[in-house]
Amino acid sequence: MSLIVQKFGGSSVADADSIKRVARRIVDTHLAGHEVVVVVSAMGDTTDDLIELAEQVSPKPAARELDMLLTAGERISMAVLAMAIHDLGAEARSYTGSQAGMITDSAHGAARIVEVTPGRIRSALDDRAIPIVAGFQGVARDTKDITTLGRGGTDTTAVALAVALSADVCEIYTDVDGVFTADPRIVPRARQLDSVTYEEMLELAAAGAKVLHLRSVEYARRFDLPVHVRSSFSAHEGTWVLSDRALTDRIVRNAQGGSTVEQPIISGTVADTNDAKITVVGVPDRPGEAAAIFTALADANINIDMIVQNVSAEATGRTDVTFTCPQGSAAKALAALEAVRDAIGFASLAFDDEIAKISLVGAGMRSHPGVSATFFSSLAEAGVNVEMISTSEIRISIVTRAAVAAEAVRALHTAFGLDADGEAVVYAGTGR
Ligand code: ASP
Ligand code: MG
Repeated sequence: MSLIVQKFGGSSVADADSIKRVARRIVDTHLAGHEVVVVVSAMGDTTDDLIELAEQVSPKPAARELDMLLTAGERISMAVLAMAIHDLGAEARSYTGSQAGMITDSAHGAARIVEVTPGRIRSALDDRAIPIVAGFQGVARDTKDITTLGRGGTDTTAVALAVALSADVCEIYTDVDGVFTADPRIVPRARQLDSVTYEEMLELAAAGAKVLHLRSVEYARRFDLPVHVRSSFSAHEGTWVLSDRALTDRIVRNAQGGSTVEQPIISGTVADTNDAKITVVGVPDRPGEAAAIFTALADANINIDMIVQNVSAEATGRTDVTFTCPQGSAAKALAALEAVRDAIGFASLAFDDEIAKISLVGAGMRSHPGVSATFFSSLAEAGVNVEMISTSEIRISIVTRAAVAAEAVRALHTAFGLDADGEAVVYAGTGR
């Protein structure tokens, strides 16, 4: 008997039929003798619809109330899913995040989990009931207000709960068969990965792959929890997200069983069109100015991604500093910089949200020469102009025009030999 946490994304519970199908799968796992804890997202586009409603009522909805509103989406799906399970003859009990013991800080819209106390979930399991937990929400330790973890946060709820319950595995059910070498909606010949390390998955998620919430991967890595990303629409084996060691063991086992092989050099390529680029023009070239810029942005709670500083023009002693951040926080970033403009003495700000970040990720980069050469050559052949470059040990990213994002990803996918023979199956549309 295993303890399995099963998380179902919005597209897996989009309507009544999907909910009944998911209920069947949960009950089957339960009847096979396992302890099952379910974590659900809101049905289909419910969260987007609720945000739209809030913005119709109030252009800048109060953060506390927006969180209260959004958590309603997950409450709907947990309750109806529990009903569907009852009709299949098993006992299910639904719990809000707060009831399930998801204790967070009080940062509305981006709360962090500070403690998980799943006492009620454990007792439900002891009664042979199936607990259904509302994803992406918790309760703030200090204010006792209801919080949300940020968009896509149900993955993190599931992983955190799995860790707190010492689960054997956290299964993330989505609308594709696993983690692919590219988004199959953009690259039809994307290939499903058998397994991927936490490090690679972190880079893929940070590069904009939406299959897993970044924080859920960080959490799983910290506690070495195996995550299995798979489809709720098929019975196929999905993609395992594992530590380096567990992955090596798995490859060895697979090889003994007669199947593959060596870990691929490249695990994926990702396009992200949700960032904006801001340039601080004419920054005086002296110590402390970059610190002043990024302190102002940090104080405004802006997450910075890539940064480039040009060589200063000798005649003027001034330089330009360019960085990227999520489009959603660009207005706040511009306001924060405007406020320190006189103090820093820069000339102006330039803003561009027509950009895409294109990334190539793979642990094999560390030990294989020529990856950068192939990367830049294939982009050049595809006519993709490079505006910014950043790298980590296992990732190369560039910024280019959003209009060429899909083409760039397809060119890289082909150049690195990732194209599969057949086309990948996408079971539903939202990628959640
Ligand atoms: N329903 C929330 C969202 O759409 C949380 C989630 O799906 O993970 O972001
Ligand atoms: Mg998701």
